[in-house]
Amino acid sequence: MEQTLVIIKPSAVHRGLIGDIISRFQNKGLTITGLKMMQLDEEILREHYSHLTEKPFFPSLLESMMATPVIVMCLEGIDAVEVVRLMTGATNGRKALPGTIRGDLSMSGQENIVHASDSVENGRIELARFFKPGEIFSYRPANLRFYYAPD
Ligand code: UDP
Repeated sequence: MEQTLVIIKPSAVHRGLIGDIISRFQNKGLTITGLKMMQLDEEILREHYSHLTEKPFFPSLLESMMATPVIVMCLEGIDAVEVVRLMTGATNGRKALPGTIRGDLSMSGQENIVHASDSVENGRIELARFFKPGEIFSYRPANLRFYYAPD
């Protein structure tokens, strides 16, 4: 089983899409092993988006990510990182394929509804950034075998 971080961004919180997004991941068969609401600040965002701090859009990205509290989730499943990135879609909502979260719910490059870790290693780093020890749980859903019949 892999773990990955999803952030439901302020664009989704403003638009009342939290439930829809959580449902998509649950319906797919991913297990929610961590979930909370938190207010992000500049310090954590500079760390999280360290690859973007020199970009001209960074100040507006900061503002956008602090506009409301966000939902952070730890999702667990076989190949969870790749599955969740596929479900998330391309960065720009206008380019993201229909059927993906961004493709279905966003028309924007910045206000693109969710963040998802892009590698197993980054998932580990990002989960440690947003969750304290003890906030991620370990359990086995009773229906797991219906999701993961052998390939
Ligand atoms: N972003 C933006 N303008 C751009 C590229 C990215 O505002 O031209 C924002 C957007 O919200 C994106 C985030 O910065 O989700 C992080 O960008 P990254 O390239 O890491 O894309 P992601 O992994 O989120 O698809």
